[in-house]
Amino acid sequence: MTPTHGSSTPAPTSPPGGDGRGFFHKHLLGIEGLNPLEIGYLLEIADTYVEQNRRANKKKSLLKGMTLINLFFETSTRTRTSFELAGKRLGCDVINMQTDASSIKKGETLLDTAITLNAMHPDILVVRHSESGAVKLLSEKVDGCVINAGDGRHEHPTQALLDALTIRRRKGRIEGLTVAICGDILHSRVARSNIHLLTTMGARVRVVAPPTLLPAAVERLGVEVFHDMRRGLENCDIVMMLRLQQERMRGSYLPSVREFFHFYGLDHAKLSAAKPDALIMHPGPMNRGVEIDTVVADDIHRSAIQEQVEMGVAVRMACLDVLTRKVRETELKNGGAS
Ligand code: ASP
Repeated sequence: MTPTHGSSTPAPTSPPGGDGRGFFHKHLLGIEGLNPLEIGYLLEIADTYVEQNRRANKKKSLLKGMTLINLFFETSTRTRTSFELAGKRLGCDVINMQTDASSIKKGETLLDTAITLNAMHPDILVVRHSESGAVKLLSEKVDGCVINAGDGRHEHPTQALLDALTIRRRKGRIEGLTVAICGDILHSRVARSNIHLLTTMGARVRVVAPPTLLPAAVERLGVEVFHDMRRGLENCDIVMMLRLQQERMRGSYLPSVREFFHFYGLDHAKLSAAKPDALIMHPGPMNRGVEIDTVVADDIHRSAIQEQVEMGVAVRMACLDVLTRKVRETELKNGGAS
């Protein structure tokens, strides 16, 4: 059986005669279940695209003739734009569809949309949805490959990959680093994908948050739990801040935003507990003065936040490249244009 996704399917075997390196899943729905070789392979390919994106001629015709549909049921700036750019830089046609999830009936309409779009033969569907599991459901109804651009609180695999690429390029490795992921872990798909990726690649991961913003039994994911920022940041190499996701909060999780900043907002005083060369990261969009102080966010020596945005395009190009490889090779064998 061809594996379709990292989580819940065994690690893929290499094709006959292969050296085991590569990425042989049909979709990219999550990081959970991917192995270090697969993650390392995606990062290696992404590295080559970083160089290409820094040249004046950024375009390739690798995906010429293919169609990518960006299907976003939740708002997005960075992710949607960078998938669009990634697709265009690889020469494919890109269509953007932004749908207001609140105005549609869940389930039935999502699948109706999937079936309708499938009839137009897109080769790649990049999907963001507010419900965990919705993207996987959709992937079962379409013929092309599906990339999860964020499903509820579940996963955001390309964000974790671009974070890993940023860390690897700055620190030269991931293994052995101590990474503190801080803030609203409970509502964060970025946290979940990063925990899976970083622990798989041999980093030590800490989560730092008030008890109300932590998922139950989070330590089962292989992380150390801290409720105090200074203790959680002590000697760490990477400080990854998360946005307070108020749109996902039902009920009161915090006394006040001001109090949250006082205890958990990253400022230079709290940062001094980390290693002197610790890197500051944030997936964006940032709430300045809520989870991160503006001076720290803009610190050109410590903050890698803009670099994360740059790595996002390269990582998404790598994902489009590897996921369409099998289709492109088959087309080539059958005598079609590549
Ligand atoms: N952009 C990220 C996401 O879509 C992080 C965030 O929204 O806070 O999950």
